[in-house]
Amino acid sequence: MRARLQGLGLRAWGFACLAATLSAQAAPPGSGSVRLQPDWPTVETEILRHYQAVLRLDTTNPPGNEHIAVEYLKQVFDAEGIPSQVFALDPNRSNIVARLKGSGRKRPLLIMGHTDDVTVDASKWKFPPFSATRDGGYVYARGAIDDKDNLTAGLMTLVMLKRLNVPLDRDVIFLAESGEEGNSNFGIQFMVAQHFDQIDAEYCFAEGGGVTRIGGEARFATVQATEKIPRGIELVAHGISGHGSIPLKSNAIVHLASAVAKVGDWRPDIRFNETTGRYFRGLAAISPPDVAARYRDVLSADPKVRAAADDWLVEHEPQHASMLRTSVSPNIFAGGYRSNVIPSEAKATLDVRMLPDEDPARFLEQVARVVNDPAVEVRFPSQNTRPPGAAARLDSEPFTAIEAANRRIYNVTTLPTMSTFATDMAQLRAKGMQCYGIGPAVDLEDGPKGFGMHSDQERLLESELYRFVRFNYEVVVDLARAK
Ligand SMILES: [Zn+2]
Repeated sequence: MRARLQGLGLRAWGFACLAATLSAQAAPPGSGSVRLQPDWPTVETEILRHYQAVLRLDTTNPPGNEHIAVEYLKQVFDAEGIPSQVFALDPNRSNIVARLKGSGRKRPLLIMGHTDDVTVDASKWKFPPFSATRDGGYVYARGAIDDKDNLTAGLMTLVMLKRLNVPLDRDVIFLAESGEEGNSNFGIQFMVAQHFDQIDAEYCFAEGGGVTRIGGEARFATVQATEKIPRGIELVAHGISGHGSIPLKSNAIVHLASAVAKVGDWRPDIRFNETTGRYFRGLAAISPPDVAARYRDVLSADPKVRAAADDWLVEHEPQHASMLRTSVSPNIFAGGYRSNVIPSEAKATLDVRMLPDEDPARFLEQVARVVNDPAVEVRFPSQNTRPPGAAARLDSEPFTAIEAANRRIYNVTTLPTMSTFATDMAQLRAKGMQCYGIGPAVDLEDGPKGFGMHSDQERLLESELYRFVRFNYEVVVDLARAK
């Protein structure tokens, strides 16, 4: 579940030329040793074959049916002689774990890709959503960038490590998990609760980052190091029921409407963490001057300067505005059932995305103060499904390996980022694993055109799929090969 930088100001980037300012290439890991580097042009045919094969499996969630993807992956692992095992809470929603053994000198590395897709409206697609049609350099399909790209990259990385017989200092584990799009109880939650020994690792890689292309050129890379925590809040207005011909001051709908309006206008305080601070500073350093000023201003200690920059971001780059704070979006409003009956209750649901260090109880009190109406109850509806966890370290071996590969392969700088949405890394970070979100290069223009993840259509450039697989493989080799 990703939503890359949708809010970024596009026009401002039109004339920026970053490539010239970025430093040149380092040698790829193992470039001196032929057997560490696959013959990429030959491998590309195989990458595309697996990618199209998994895209053509309809794993729309609900209902998921991820077992069809697991069966496909199992047959590839079996053919390559890679040991794998299937784990399932529900046989239709299975997960698969494959493992290449290392010497055990270092703790394992885990690569993940989720097998389920979000729902599609086939009538909105130029090509059928499970056709994986190639057109104009793109591959069109649901899951093209969420998450069958990471799934294919993980699969190919294991296949190539095995074929080239790369000696490893640590086990490399691949997990293809079900239910990421809203039913993690079948996937990551189940694996963590019941089979954690199968996936326990020092580091993990999953979706959530990537390279941003603007005007057809790679401009910068992001690595997801932390994520916000979804924690819905309900507002329930209680009033007196009665005949609609006699208006009452206690009308629950009126109270609820007022409460929702107050919460909708409210902007919770801005708060930075290490990841978002580095992200905005880094983005300022590589952005055109007028936009760069906004990113610097929002970090300013002067509340006036900061507020003006915040206003601009809320208007023009809402995703960046959401990264600054715990966000609140009223998304469901329900009340009343007959035009001549005053209902005694009306309920609104707020989609709240908390900063990783937010105190939920304290935040709930803040919302109640904003609502400021004793007729409106403010409550958490149910338990949260994503646990809080510490952000991944930015001075770590994986972060350094990712930075180096981004420079080498894309010639771009790497920014750590906090996603506003949740991923399956949440459960692993809660167990203390250092997790990093990575992904292929995608055109920033593609989101607004309706080709983004969860959009009406979805696509990825074939050439960027190949670059991403190479990136994935080289980062893993860098971290896991015997040294
Ligand atoms: Zn996803």
